[in-house]
Amino acid sequence: MTNIPATIPNWINGKEQTAQGGEVFANLSPATGEILCQVARSREVDVAQAVEAAKQAQPAWAEMPAVQRGNVLHDIVLGMKQHQAEIAEIVAAETGKAYKEAYGETGGAIALGLFYASEGQRLYGCTTTSGTPNKYAMTVRHPLGVAGLIIAANTPIANVAWKVFPALICGNTAVLKAAEDTPATAWIFGKVAQEAGLPPGVLNVIQGYGEEAGAPLVAHLDVAVVSFTGSTAVGRTIQRVAGERFARVSLELGGKNPLVVCDDADLDNAVKWTVLSAFSNAGQRCASGSRIIVFDAVYEAFREKLLARTQQLKIGPTNEDDLGPVINERQLINMLGSVEQAQQEGAKVIAGGTRLVGPEHVNGFYMAPTILEDVNPKAHISCSELFGPITILYRVKDFAAALALANNSPYGLTASIHTRSLDRAVRFCDKVQAGVAVVNAGTYGSEPHMPFGGLKQSGNGTREPGTEALDVYSELKDIYINIDPDKT
Ligand code: NAD
Repeated sequence: MTNIPATIPNWINGKEQTAQGGEVFANLSPATGEILCQVARSREVDVAQAVEAAKQAQPAWAEMPAVQRGNVLHDIVLGMKQHQAEIAEIVAAETGKAYKEAYGETGGAIALGLFYASEGQRLYGCTTTSGTPNKYAMTVRHPLGVAGLIIAANTPIANVAWKVFPALICGNTAVLKAAEDTPATAWIFGKVAQEAGLPPGVLNVIQGYGEEAGAPLVAHLDVAVVSFTGSTAVGRTIQRVAGERFARVSLELGGKNPLVVCDDADLDNAVKWTVLSAFSNAGQRCASGSRIIVFDAVYEAFREKLLARTQQLKIGPTNEDDLGPVINERQLINMLGSVEQAQQEGAKVIAGGTRLVGPEHVNGFYMAPTILEDVNPKAHISCSELFGPITILYRVKDFAAALALANNSPYGLTASIHTRSLDRAVRFCDKVQAGVAVVNAGTYGSEPHMPFGGLKQSGNGTREPGTEALDVYSELKDIYINIDPDKT
């Protein structure tokens, strides 16, 4: 892969830098199992250097008017547009997803960047009336300081943009801890940002493993806000560690998202969106549809259509394929173990359930699109996220049972219902315990200007992106101005 350097360095204070200990680890192609590149294996000492660079750069960046910060971010967006094909090639190589998917994802990251670049012109506070005569009351936004940003690998360029742009427009500087499986995507974003004229130290990119490079960032006393996209288990630790010193924490965590198919649904549309929700991006979406809840009256018809469509799916890394590999072998092995355990507990595998080992898949990390049924809603597999192309069919008798099952989950990220009834659709959107509710489409597909986030163990109540992310990355200050009219 010509665009990926042999060894991916960190970006610290505007410069590429190897890990101070000189250590590296290998990053493998999920599509072929071959080594793509080596990666700087950063540790606490590297993180400390990056945080110091961010701390030094922050006052000047915050002094720059937000409109001008927006102009700089706009230049980064232009750089991303110019390098869109190159970024997409890297995303495709690191994740194993098709180039056209990677190109679209890069387009999404660009749209998000554009949105926040323009927020420099709209970094609104609020002006209101005071209860006291001759007194004026308003709020203004201030940055928090250094932002520690930690991301997952599933949609790597979108995840970078989702965090970096809102953090920077608010006047924070940042240390981004790249996902260990997608280091080159974060590296090229850092490169584009430097070339676009972002002042040194405003964005620093640290490569490495979670325990070795992520944990020291979370624990660093100079990091004022930690924004994390990843698993609920790691999110829980981050909440505790950063919460101890009252750092602000934003957690975008896992999901076990229900898609309900009612007896009045357009079944072909429901099948289309079930397949996309469960299997696109190889099921590696926090918002993937992993619990498909189907009314008894249409269960058999829906099941038959779903199986037929699933059997047609093409699996591989090309533009002609419907889904690619999962991100690494560890994930694949965990998934296979979970499916096996579910089978031992009585679940039936009606599609997939195995690793693909045909000639074109043999060295990659491919899981066959998998559908289970006869699974107890309380079984481990019903309550835990697998983050792969695996979904479960549940049979329910009516709307009340569907809603109850949808809400019977430790997670509450997204949910979808397929129905022609306005009453059912609105009732579902009102009552489902999720941060996102969708009618007649998939469980995924958030827009850059809309707030995203979940209830229960899917997050800690914050919302990113949208203008709501500005609340994650800024502090509101009340300003009261008192005047004496006699002195005018
Ligand atoms: P993960 O939690 O294992 O890792 C995510 C990131 O955290 C990686 O960069 C990793 O290096 C880092 N990390 C790991 N341990 C750490 C520690 N102790 N301290 C600090 N950082 C640490 O998650 P994953 O398996 O890589 O990603 C999949 C998860 O991400 C799923 O649960 C998925 O639902 C979630 N996700 C959520 C959203 C959302 O917006 N809600 C979006 C995408 C992915």
